[in-house]
This record gives sequence, C-alpha cells and structure tokens, in this order.
Amino acid sequence: MTDFKKDQTIDANITSATIKLYDENPYETSFSAKITEIHKNDNCIYLVLDRTLFFPEEGGQSADTGEIEGFEVVDVQISNDIITHMISCSEEAEKALIQGKTVQGRVNWETRFSNMQNHTGEHILSGILHNEYGSENVGFHLSDNTVTLDTSRYLNEDELAALEIKANRAVYANLEIKAEYLPDEELAKIEYRSKKEIAGAVRIVTIGDIDKCACCAPHVHRTGEVGLIKIIKAIKWKEGTRIWFLCGSRALEYVQTIFKNVDEVARLTSESPDKIADGVNRFNETIQSLKADLFQAQSGLMEEKIKNIHDIKSDVILFENVSNAKIQRNAVNALVERFDGVCGVFSTSDNISYQYIIGSKNRDCREVGRVLNEKLGAKGGGKPEMIQGSVAASMEAIIEALKETLDI
Ligand SMILES: [Zn+2]
Repeated sequence: MTDFKKDQTIDANITSATIKLYDENPYETSFSAKITEIHKNDNCIYLVLDRTLFFPEEGGQSADTGEIEGFEVVDVQISNDIITHMISCSEEAEKALIQGKTVQGRVNWETRFSNMQNHTGEHILSGILHNEYGSENVGFHLSDNTVTLDTSRYLNEDELAALEIKANRAVYANLEIKAEYLPDEELAKIEYRSKKEIAGAVRIVTIGDIDKCACCAPHVHRTGEVGLIKIIKAIKWKEGTRIWFLCGSRALEYVQTIFKNVDEVARLTSESPDKIADGVNRFNETIQSLKADLFQAQSGLMEEKIKNIHDIKSDVILFENVSNAKIQRNAVNALVERFDGVCGVFSTSDNISYQYIIGSKNRDCREVGRVLNEKLGAKGGGKPEMIQGSVAASMEAIIEALKETLDI
C-alpha cells in the first residue's frame, strides 16, 4: 500500500494546514505542537497549531475535549484543513499562549474512546444496512448525549432486531479496522460508501468485509473494542428510519440505568424483571375497576344530593369534588330538569381552581360565563343552554361574582 499522506495533498497556498495526528495515532492522548497562529476576541482565544491530536467537530460528530498548556479546550473547528482550538479568555492563558511557542496538549481519553466506540459502531450498522438491507446512511449525529443514524429506507421492528444481532456478531468476530489514504487511481478500483464528493486523497476506513467508507474520524483498531451495540429507539424519519443507538461504555451505562428502573418496577409490582408488563397491566386493571366503582359511588351521591335540594332561590350552584366530567354533566342535566333557573356544578380537587358546567332551559348561560370571565379571568364558553370552562378563584369569590347575575 502506498504511504500517501493527506498533508501532501494540501493546496500550496494553505501552508499552515494542520497535521492530523489522530489520523495515525487515535490512541495517543498527549502531544506537543507549535502555535502557528493565534487570534482572540473578548471571550475566546483561537489557536492554530502545526499539528494536533484534537479531532474537530466534523461529519456530525462533536469535537474532542481536553486541554492545551492546562487550559480547557472548549471547542475545535476545521476549515480548509486548518484546525482551530478555542480556549476561554483569561490573563493567564493570554500570557502562556504565544505565537511560535511549543505547547503541550492533552485529549480527554474517556470522551475520545467513547466517541471511537460509537463512531465505529455506526460504521458497522451502516455497512450492514448498505450490504444487506439496500439502505444508506443519510445522516449521523454523535454528541455527548445522543448518537443517531438516519437510514434511506424504512426498517420495521423485526429488521431492526436482526440488524442489532448482526452488528453485535461483527463485534464478536473482532475484525480488524484499517484507515488509509488512497490516491485517485486506487480509489477508482474499489467500491466504498461516501456521503459527499471529496477532493484530493480520500481516507478509506475498512472493517473486515462489513464496511468500506470514506471517513476522517478516529476509529478503534478492532471491532471487539466497540463492545455492545444497542439500538435504543427508532422512529419513521422522512422515507426511512431514525435510529438511536449506543455502543461500548455508553451502552453499558444506559442498560444499567434501564435495569435499575426495571428492578424498581419489579419490586413495586411484585413481579420478576422479565414479567413487569404483566404486573403493570394488573395495576391498570385494578385502577380501571376502582375508577368504575368511584364513578358509581359519586354518581349515586350526586343524585341523592340533587333530590334533597329544597330551599333554593331561582338559581342553583353546587361546589363539589367529582373525579369525572361525566358525573358533573349528568348532575347539571338533572338540576336543569328539576329547576327553571340557572344550574351549575363547580368541581375542584384543590379548592383554588374549579372546572365548571352551567346550564339552563330558560336563560342564556353565556351571560353568566361573561361575568365569570370579566370578574375572575375565567376561561370558557359554549351555547346559550350550556357553557363550560375553568376558573382559578376561591368558592367565596366565585359566589360573590355570580351574585351579580344570579339569584343564589
Ligand atoms: Zn468513520
């Protein structure tokens, strides 16, 4: 294989293109480099080094984290093959970072390796999708919180489960991963995945017979290092599927969190972890049955209460705590049937806000609604014979406001 290096392809005008140490040494974390350019504004110092181990934000993947001369690198960007490191402004940083000086850099290994695991996992999934499902990777995002992959073709639940199994088999096979720059004449002879046209030498990442893809990011050396590949969610996305997945340490952390929750639900439902759905279903059935009992009991109580109303003026307003709007509506209908004036039921569970339904066979209820809106900022409306809404006020304030228009 040729030892063609990317830095040999640099346009002659861009003399300060950064040497990407992470290309050859993705497992290295410390490096020394010379500051070739330095700029600053009120918040940030922008450093260009002659070489760097920091992978910049690129291809949907967030930048490496770490420090240069002990100062935290807050962002790393690339433009025209020049990598810029951003460091927060401080007097100390301005004194320590001077053009031409040789500085020490350190990349945060935990983040770097986690990104290598998840990024390589994405190659494995995308390679299998390409080879076996005729589906292309049309979007990739790798940040501290999320890893997503968008496919060009929709994948159903069974296909996703099979994809996950195949991807993990590629991990067990512990395949070698090669990354190399190939000149045009060699590229012309091979088939590889690429999301965009790339000028100059192209870095080809090969994972056994699973994937061959143009890519500039750091990868692990063997698929075994990726660890578990776990698809955690998938939704229909445009014509295809958006897949959320996690690999390696992030996958383990996620599975541990899920198991903690599963164990808690198992304890609460007195079921074994693999049968918690049965336990939750049983709880739901009990809740539905209790709700039906409560409906019956509250309906009976309301009927009794309405039967026993005797000393009223023209209008009737009740304040109750009912669990179901149907009970409230039935009560208003029963009151309207029995009395000629305006009849209403205000229901509350906290005594500071009420849901109301008001009806009448003789009067326009919207007039009552207008008073509640104007006096108490209530929200609601309806037809002349019945209105409903909500109001955040005490029972006393509601009675006071209603007295303006009702005889209660
Ligand atoms: Zn890659």
